[in-house]
Amino acid sequence: MNTMNQTTVQVPLGEDYPEIREGVRRICADFPNTYWREIDRAEAYPTEFVRAMSESGYLAALIPEEYGGAGLPLRAAGVILQECHAHGCYAAAAHAQMYTMGTLLRHGSEEQKRKYLPKIASGELRLQAFGVTEPTTGTDTTKLKTRAVRDGDHYVVHGQKVFISRALHSDLMLLLCRTTPVDQAQKKTDGLSVLLVDLREAVGNGLEIRKLDVMINHNTTELFFDGLRVPAENLIGQEGKGFRCILDGMNAERILVSHESIGDAQWFIRTASRYACDRIVFDRPIGQNQGIQFPIARAYAEMQAADMMVRKAAALFDAGQPCGEEANIAKLLSSEAAWNAAEACMQTHGGFGYAREYDVERRWREARVQRTAPISTNLILAYIGEHVLGMPRSY
Ligand SMILES: Cc1cc2nc3c(=O)[nH]c(=O)nc-3n(C[C@H](O)[C@H](O)[C@H](O)COP(=O)(O)OP(=O)(O)OC[C@H]3O[C@@H](n4cnc5c(N)ncnc54)[C@H](O)[C@@H]3O)c2cc1C
Repeated sequence: MNTMNQTTVQVPLGEDYPEIREGVRRICADFPNTYWREIDRAEAYPTEFVRAMSESGYLAALIPEEYGGAGLPLRAAGVILQECHAHGCYAAAAHAQMYTMGTLLRHGSEEQKRKYLPKIASGELRLQAFGVTEPTTGTDTTKLKTRAVRDGDHYVVHGQKVFISRALHSDLMLLLCRTTPVDQAQKKTDGLSVLLVDLREAVGNGLEIRKLDVMINHNTTELFFDGLRVPAENLIGQEGKGFRCILDGMNAERILVSHESIGDAQWFIRTASRYACDRIVFDRPIGQNQGIQFPIARAYAEMQAADMMVRKAAALFDAGQPCGEEANIAKLLSSEAAWNAAEACMQTHGGFGYAREYDVERRWREARVQRTAPISTNLILAYIGEHVLGMPRSY
């Protein structure tokens, strides 16, 4: 269990980064519920919102200043995402840029960083797609079958990916694929590599992208690789060591998306409490009934507890301390807090919860995804069981 040295790490309470919060709220005010409702109805990409977040520099929060970003701590980036979600916006449409970029930052060569990071920071290039999941192997990542074979100064890629979000709205994609077949690798985690794919050149030249019909507007796609040629210079990190590159970005990813869940929970609790005060049935506000009031109050308590764990995980990460335990617990608790708040909000709204103009059903659908992606609840519990509590590996 992770208790060493943590006493020296300070966890901020209250509204830290007030200027960032204020700035994000101002942007959110330009993208009201009507905007998101229409984007959802049309299954469109929130291009204007993503542009506003890029132009303001918020999506470049984690890119170091020397590459044109703001060089802020992970907590500040989390606050940006949380504020978006707490104020009705859906930052998940753009959040991958924050954590996907980390793989390039930590494992890319200096030349790759100079070539891509400044343009990502300015919004000229979008690095929004991250290709890991495959239809036949799912969570069992090391078994993935997409193959990249070296041919001169290129890799030639064949295979398939599923649930790859934003691929139709991104210029670049980080792709995890096998460069050594699993039966020839020393360990099953060896032989995987990360390639930076330029989607602008790839589509129609060995890559086909098909939009998936899913219950939330996440711009999720299926990818079909049939002889895609990727320049060998686009290998990120060492060939065969790609799994490690992806793994060491997981804590940041989990902490960032946990902030979104906290923001979701805040939105649901605020929306539910207001409605519970305003809606009169049996000549009194429905919030006067304990059956309505208590689930909202419980959701608030759960959100506050999860928020503390999110803050702790971020503080440890920013202090450069081990935080696998806290990042995973933060992800578990925040996704459950958001889901319980979503359920309370739906139930409070009765039949009106189903009416699209109330925005509750849309946000309820969106909040649910955090229990499945980017990592499902069971796999988090498996991490805690094995790595924190020392029980046998369950898979
Ligand atoms: C909207 C959306 C967007 C996504 N975006 C991306 C993306 O951009 N890039 C990307 O690579 N992927 C993406 N994903 C995929 C996502 O990461 C996976 O769906 C998720 O990791 C689970 O994989 P799976 O769907 O194959 O489930 P499976 O692996 O088939 O698992 C199904 C269920 O079984 C459980 N399970 C499996 N094995 C075990 C075990 N050993 N012990 C206990 N329980 C187990 C899982 O927890 C899950 O609940 C996205 C998914 C969604 C829904």
